[in-house]
Amino acid sequence: MKKIIIAIDGHSSTGKSTTAKRVAHALQYVYIDTGAMYRAVTFLALQKGFITTSIDKQGLLSALKESTLSFVHNSALGRSEIYLNGQNIEKEIRGLAVANQVSQVAKIPEVRTYLVALQRQMGAQKGVVMDGRDIGTVVFPQAELKLFMTASEQVRAQRRFEELQQKGEIVTFDQVLKNIQERDYQDTHREESPLQKASDAIEIDNSHIPLEEVVSQIVQLAEEKIKA
Ligand code: C5P
Repeated sequence: MKKIIIAIDGHSSTGKSTTAKRVAHALQYVYIDTGAMYRAVTFLALQKGFITTSIDKQGLLSALKESTLSFVHNSALGRSEIYLNGQNIEKEIRGLAVANQVSQVAKIPEVRTYLVALQRQMGAQKGVVMDGRDIGTVVFPQAELKLFMTASEQVRAQRRFEELQQKGEIVTFDQVLKNIQERDYQDTHREESPLQKASDAIEIDNSHIPLEEVVSQIVQLAEEKIKA
């Protein structure tokens, strides 16, 4: 059967990853979380001490080129997890320490060029659902199906707040809301590949739509594209 590329872009904490994962599962496609890749590079920068009052870009780029970054499928959990230099860093990249710096790191053009090349390799065989900020505009402008997800700030902050609390992270709702607002601002205002809706993307505001409904809408759209 024909395979397609599904690009899911949108604002922070709109449930892109959860949606993309479910869509991939329904279609038996591979899910690629590009946000995890920018988070992993940020983790590397923090680990190596490259983030102080500014970022040591040269140091970070050479460390990145010497590093291995990959997704490994965890069959017990039924999902892929990100590894940096052989270390599973899923837990480390989800906390606020990384979230507070990631948009600064994602602004660096050379970091983007490096990760976009990796993402294109990962999607070269098609049959992928990739989520991020620039998938439909830069990484795969030829993707057969493009979605742009959004939701109100309050709804997004509440969801992320509950998620972090469940993971045992000590944060306040206001810290989470501020992080979301700052990332939205930086992601949409950066010079290099800013977050924007591709002209041919379908916008989904999921503030009041249950996850399952969004997933089945996307699966249906994908099946139409696959048949076409
Ligand atoms: O999707 P997630 O919230 O994990 O992404 C973390 C950050 O990585 C975003 O706020 C954005 O700065 C950056 N990012 C990006 N381009 C992508 C995916 C993520 O700039 N394709």
